[in-house]
Amino acid sequence: MIYLDNAATTKVSETVVEGMLPFMNRKYGNPSGIYEFADQSGKAVEHAREQVASLIGAQKKEIYFTSGGSESDNWALKSVMEQYKDKGRHLITSKIEHHAILETCAWLEKQGCDITYLDVDENGFVKMNQLEKSIRKDTVCISIMTANNEIGTIQPLYEIGRLARRHNLIFHTDAVQAYGHIPIDVRECNIHLLSASAHKLHGPKGVGCLYINDTIDVPSMIYGGGQESGHRAGTENVPGIVGFGIAAEEASRNMNLRREKELKLRNYLMKRILWEIPYVRINGSVKRRLPNNANFSFQFVDGESLLILLDSAGICASAASACSAGSKEPSHVLMALGMPEELAYGTLRLTVSADNTKQEMDIVVEKIKESVSRLREMSSEMADVEQ
Ligand SMILES: *Cc1c(COP(=O)(O)O)cnc(C)c1O
Repeated sequence: MIYLDNAATTKVSETVVEGMLPFMNRKYGNPSGIYEFADQSGKAVEHAREQVASLIGAQKKEIYFTSGGSESDNWALKSVMEQYKDKGRHLITSKIEHHAILETCAWLEKQGCDITYLDVDENGFVKMNQLEKSIRKDTVCISIMTANNEIGTIQPLYEIGRLARRHNLIFHTDAVQAYGHIPIDVRECNIHLLSASAHKLHGPKGVGCLYINDTIDVPSMIYGGGQESGHRAGTENVPGIVGFGIAAEEASRNMNLRREKELKLRNYLMKRILWEIPYVRINGSVKRRLPNNANFSFQFVDGESLLILLDSAGICASAASACSAGSKEPSHVLMALGMPEELAYGTLRLTVSADNTKQEMDIVVEKIKESVSRLREMSSEMADVEQ
């Protein structure tokens, strides 16, 4: 198998698995207990909090563990719009956010909130002048993702944060694709809230965090016990949290090395595909892009059929994002780039990790070349062009 779907999820690192195991068998104490055995779990959770915080320049007390990116996104937006409802009910986001943000916004609209969905340019960047113009007296929050999960475009966080500060707005960012992959400093970028998820950085599934800047307070969305300083009830997912901490530390230690490896593989993949296959384009920014992301649209090719051919060769890839897979709608991200619908259907996302090899890239390019030609032989539009 060749795994090129690291934006959907990543392989759990061996070190992470080893670190988690004792908390699944021997050390099963509930961190809320008042005996030494429980305290071992409690200490492990606090150590992980430190590891997760340090990756983004946050304080330990600003990290709240959740069940993952989706919960963090829901919590951030719902709680901020609740907390500051006296100031106003307007929120600004973009058209290319993850569904965890967009669906939460749809729910907020039903509750009477007003949402502005910013356009993006052809590379997927929000337009700063449009962002500034959309700010109103009753605007509470700007929520813009750090990097896009489909096309890898990295937004200008620093500029957005500065704008938010100037207008006294709360700034949330969905950093699920970026956390542990590229450097992020929450203080430098004036970020008040940040969502992250362990399984996108070689940690376990079902655990993530919301960073909440200590200058703001937001209500809890899950009521119950007093865990997470009363902000998120429920007995802690101790093995998951421990795994998240180790994954964060490994990501911090290896960030440059992983990045170099990913860039080399990704750039090689892009170069070969662009040179060796006609009628193909790269989606997203080439300059400000996640190091592991490649996203192509092949003209006269059905992406779903391409995926099936790749799968039959043991290659795991994705059409757009895992979330829109199965639906026949073209990706909202590609539509926001202004791409024609037919072209959007011919899209292939390949996301590498540092564990991949150049050899694998060669196999994948050959298979794509062969599959694309095969599919194009059956395409009548292609036949017209070839005339
Ligand atoms: C994966 C992802 C999420 C959802 O995270 P889960 O932990 O799977 O709930 C949210 N936003 C982005 C950008 C993602 O890539």
